[in-house]
Amino acid sequence: MAIPRSLSLEDWDARYDALRRDGMGEPWYGGPLRRHLEAGGDTRLGALRFDDSPAALRLWNFLLTEEDRLREARAAGHKLVGAMKDLGTVPVLASAFPELTTFYVDGAWWIPCLMGTAIGALREADRLGVCDSFCPVRALLGAFVTGEHFPIPDLLVCSAGATCDDLSAVAQRVEGLGHPVFWWEMPHRRRADRGEPSATLPGGGIAPAEQVALVRDELGRVMGALCDLAGHRPESDALGGAIAQANRVRRTLGHLRTLAYTSPLCPMPALEMLICEMLAIHFCSDRGECIEVLADMIAEVESRVAEGVGVLGEAAVRVFWVNPVADLRVMNLLEICGGRLCGTEFLFSHALDAIPEDVEPMEALARTALADPMVGTCGERAERISRDLTRFGAEALVISRVPGASHCAFEGELVGREVAARCGVPVLEIEVPSFDDAVEPALRTRLEALIETARVKRKCAGEPRRTRWA
Ligand code: SF4
Repeated sequence: MAIPRSLSLEDWDARYDALRRDGMGEPWYGGPLRRHLEAGGDTRLGALRFDDSPAALRLWNFLLTEEDRLREARAAGHKLVGAMKDLGTVPVLASAFPELTTFYVDGAWWIPCLMGTAIGALREADRLGVCDSFCPVRALLGAFVTGEHFPIPDLLVCSAGATCDDLSAVAQRVEGLGHPVFWWEMPHRRRADRGEPSATLPGGGIAPAEQVALVRDELGRVMGALCDLAGHRPESDALGGAIAQANRVRRTLGHLRTLAYTSPLCPMPALEMLICEMLAIHFCSDRGECIEVLADMIAEVESRVAEGVGVLGEAAVRVFWVNPVADLRVMNLLEICGGRLCGTEFLFSHALDAIPEDVEPMEALARTALADPMVGTCGERAERISRDLTRFGAEALVISRVPGASHCAFEGELVGREVAARCGVPVLEIEVPSFDDAVEPALRTRLEALIETARVKRKCAGEPRRTRWA
C-alpha cells in the first residue's frame, strides 16, 4: 500500500484525474474538489491540506453538496425541517417520517470557515446588529436574509432554556424576521438529590427522572409539530427504526474513532476525522449515504492500520481536542506542529453515544437530549472529557475557544484545570478565529510549546524514576 500523502487542492486535481483514469467510481455528488471553490465559493478550501484517499474525497464531496441534496429533497416533495441547537435529537425524531428531511440551520456556523469572512451572510448579520461580538452562528441570521446557503425550512425547531446566549438571540431574531420557530424547553441538567429517582444517560451521566420526563413531554410536543407537517402520525415501529439506523451511524463512527485515535500510527488526518464526527449530528441530510461514506472511511483506515502505514510519524504527540475550530486550517496546523488527534469533544458528544434501545423510543431520545454536554455543568463536562482522554491515551489537551461564544467565556479555564488535575496532562487554551491568518504564527508557537512539553513528559515517563537513594 502506498504511504498516504497530504494534498493541497491543486495536488488533488492531478490525483483526481489519476483516480478516474484508474477506474474510480463515484456517487452522483462526486467530482473534483476544486469545483466547490470555483462554483460554490468555498474559497477557504484552497488553504487546507487533505487526505489523498478516494474515501476522503467522497467524504468531502458528501459534506459540500448538502445544499444540493436539500434542494433535491424539496423538489421531490419532501418537507424540510430546520433544527437548531439540540445537535442530534430532532433529526432522529423527524426521520420516523419518510417525507421529512432535517438539517441544522446552525450548521451555518461553518460558512465563514469555508467561504471566508467577506460574505453576504455576515454582512447581513452586521446590518441587523448581530456583529462579531457573537460567535460564527450569527452567519445563520444573514443566511436567512440572503437565502443563499440553504433552502428556507418548512418548519423551524429550536430548543430553549439551557441554551447559549448567541444561538438564543440569533434564533429569536430569525423569528422576528418572519420565520416562526417551534420552541421546546431543555432544562439545565442537575444532579439527582439523594434518594431521588434518576435515569442513566448515554455516555454514563445521570439525570433526575423528573427532568427526563419533562424532556420527554417536550419532545412529544415536537413530535406533534412534525406530525402536523407530515400530515400523519409515524408508523408504529418507525421511531424505533429511526433510532436503530441512527445507532448504526453512531456505532460505525465509534469504531472509526477508536481505530483512528488508538492505533500506534495515525491512520487518518485530524481534519477528515472532524468532518466524520460532524456527520453524526444529522447525517448530512441522507442517513443511508452517510453510513456508506463512513464505511468507506473505515475500510481505508482499517487497511492503513493493517498495513502499518500512517499519515504521521510515530513520534506525533497524542492530543485531545475540545470545541470545534472556527478555522478548519488549525486541524492541519496541529499536525504540522507535531501533534495527532486522539479524542475530541466538539460540543456534541451526546450525538456520538448510542441511543438506548432497551427503553421506549421517546424515553430513549429524552435521555439522549439530556446527555448534551452543554446543558450540564462544566464539572460534568470535564469528567466526561477526562474519561475519554484516558480511554484514547491522549498526552495533552487543547481547548479551543470560539471568538464571541457565550458558552465558553470561562468554561475553558475551568475544564482545563479539572482535566489537568484528573489526568496530569499539559493543557493549552487557545482562541481560533474564523480566519486564522493573522494569529497563525502565535497559534503555531503555542501548539509547538504544548507538543514539546508533552514530549518531555513522555521522555521522563520512560526513564527510571530517581529517588534520593538512587
Ligand atoms: S459556539 Fe458556543 S456560543 Fe456559539 S452557537 Fe455554539 S454553543 Fe452557542
